[in-house]
Amino acid sequence: MKHAVVTGASRGIGKSITEKLLKENIRVTGTRRSSEFPAEFQMSELFSGIQVDLNDFNKIEEKLYPIFNLENDLPDVLINNAGIFKDADFSASDDDWLKVWDQTMNVNLRSAALLSKWFINAHINNGSEGIIINIASRAAYRGDTQEYAAYAASKGGMAAFTKSVARDFSKKGIVAYTVAPGFIETDMAKESVEILGKEALTRGSAFDEITQPIEVANLVFFLAGGEVKHMTGSTFHINGGSYMV
Ligand code: NAP
Repeated sequence: MKHAVVTGASRGIGKSITEKLLKENIRVTGTRRSSEFPAEFQMSELFSGIQVDLNDFNKIEEKLYPIFNLENDLPDVLINNAGIFKDADFSASDDDWLKVWDQTMNVNLRSAALLSKWFINAHINNGSEGIIINIASRAAYRGDTQEYAAYAASKGGMAAFTKSVARDFSKKGIVAYTVAPGFIETDMAKESVEILGKEALTRGSAFDEITQPIEVANLVFFLAGGEVKHMTGSTFHINGGSYMV
């Protein structure tokens, strides 16, 4: 692996993945929406950063399509990590509820699927191999509370999308995996930690602490190395043993 694309590289899991890849001398093209990339990324010769709102199709096309058309520098690995976790109660108005539904689908699923399509077509045209790693969630497998139904549906869609890619494109050299994290200590989990407390969040866990993002990064790095291609289409659950499959 020489070059990876990581969406949502500015914070949380995506930041940890990027740190790990850079440490392993892999070039990273990272994306962010509104927060800055860490200074050490900006200083690294191995890192290129792109600002793009994954809720905006025109911007995705303008800023990200060119990455998948690089003649000599096509990314070997695509890591669809960026995501949002927005709530909308079933008692909300249809307009408000659908607003959250659409935004969640756009950012968590639609953009990831489109980037995967561009990545796959570019590799097929090029006759080269690639690896897609989609960061879904345990919500894909166990659902979520009703306020986060859109989130769970987007992640379930991502896991199913990954399987379709794996079924049809592995023979052509593109393998795809889903990673399904449980609670990981990032900004996204902060609100739940603040509201429910760490103890409540680890109650069903096999550990007393919330999973750290570096563990997800280590798993992603391993998958990106192409050592287990015959696990294509599989989901890797990393949730502190809160459920085991
Ligand atoms: P996070 O700390 O909230 O970071 C989210 C990242 O996604 C940031 O880099 C953010 O960019 C980017 N992003 C959000 N909305 C975007 C948009 N509209 N356009 C472009 N980029 C956008 O989240 P995280 O915890 O690292 O989560 C990373 C992935 O893991 C997500 O897909 C999430 O669903 C999944 N996951 C997380 C947990 C958990 O407990 N943390 C559990 C299961 C699954 P800015 O910094 O610019 O805002």
